[in-house]
Amino acid sequence: MSGTRGTRVLVLNSGSSSVKYQLLDMGDGGRLALGLVERIGEQSSRLKHTPLATGGEAREWTGPIADHDAALKAVAEELARDGLGLDSPELAAIGHRVVHGGQTFTEPTVIDEAVLAEIERLIPVAPLHNPANLTGIRTARALRPDLPQVAVFDTAFHTTMPESAARYAIDVETADAHRIRRYGFHGTSHAYVSRETAKLLGKDPSEVNVIVLHLGNGASASAVRGGTCVDTSMGLTPLEGLVMGTRSGDMDPAVIFHLMRVGGMSTDEIDTLLNKKSGLIGLCGDNDMREIRRRIDEGDERAQLAFDIYIHRLKKYIGAYCAVLGRVDAVAFTAGVGENAAPVREAAVAGLEQLGLLVDAELNAVRGDEPRLISPANSRVAVAVVPTDEELEIATQTYALVREESN
Ligand code: AMP
Repeated sequence: MSGTRGTRVLVLNSGSSSVKYQLLDMGDGGRLALGLVERIGEQSSRLKHTPLATGGEAREWTGPIADHDAALKAVAEELARDGLGLDSPELAAIGHRVVHGGQTFTEPTVIDEAVLAEIERLIPVAPLHNPANLTGIRTARALRPDLPQVAVFDTAFHTTMPESAARYAIDVETADAHRIRRYGFHGTSHAYVSRETAKLLGKDPSEVNVIVLHLGNGASASAVRGGTCVDTSMGLTPLEGLVMGTRSGDMDPAVIFHLMRVGGMSTDEIDTLLNKKSGLIGLCGDNDMREIRRRIDEGDERAQLAFDIYIHRLKKYIGAYCAVLGRVDAVAFTAGVGENAAPVREAAVAGLEQLGLLVDAELNAVRGDEPRLISPANSRVAVAVVPTDEELEIATQTYALVREESN
């Protein structure tokens, strides 16, 4: 396989109208550049590029970018301006985030026509994400057909869940006919954070049981036994589980029939309601935890209720995953809310002394980018803040695979 002498990996996360990217050097894990193209297909597309290697100023550009092909060419030009062009022999591979790998993709996979066809076959279970991911892959392959390109799946880490956790209790034939089961998402983050948590404890991942709480705008929990995922809170789609920024999380499915029969709502309207207008934003009008905390400090009751519902659900999952794991060594908070919102961490763990969880107020108040413990020495279970890094994890998995394949 060509191109494996270099140590750089370009990570691409292609959405329907956006492309996020990072260029990393796997020699030292350093970040050389990162950026974002937004509003692809509109007149006011925007590209923001930060050249970290040269320490230069971030460059922003607004104007029409017609499609993903034009977006990636614009990114390639920005990288070339910093001497980091995509034609460089230093570039070993491109790693693509792919949301849904179904039951097929349990590991990062070098992309060929058969892999593309399978990702396409999975579109019915990921109608919003997989088409955009595919467009990004096809565009990047056209740009550098000679370079290994690797798909890293959000669902892969969760494919180890036992059937008892992965299956819904519905008619088996119907479920199988439509590939309905619990796939889970944010897997790259759960994998990375559970490993980093083991490292923080000075242990091998195989020795520890960890509950990972990925609390961003989307949010999910996972139970990881000895480095292997045994349960996670998201399901067929990212709608199940925790209360999120704009998603409802768990709910009686009959709410949907009620909204159709009594509320006269269409399938698409309910989809939008539950995915975009529920969760924190539906409960109080804000989905940013900073704003919700500010309103609570001013005595806002709706913001307080939204926070309480968010915490109640979170606590239920911590308790449930303590039961699933039996023995828990650590609970790790990560992503935008988990890494930054000390009041969320404090409230989520409050009252769980019987489960062995304690948080030290002073440690919890410390801010920082490094993994850190926030539990006192006498806490039976370590409670930690472990910043996630999905791009680094995608680059690491991509690089490991192309090295392996070239040997
Ligand atoms: P993510 O999806 O991981 O990027 O997380 C985004 C979310 O993190 C935002 O919607 C906020 O709710 C939350 N967030 C980011 N910074 C802070 C902060 N300093 N304090 C509380 N919440 C934060």
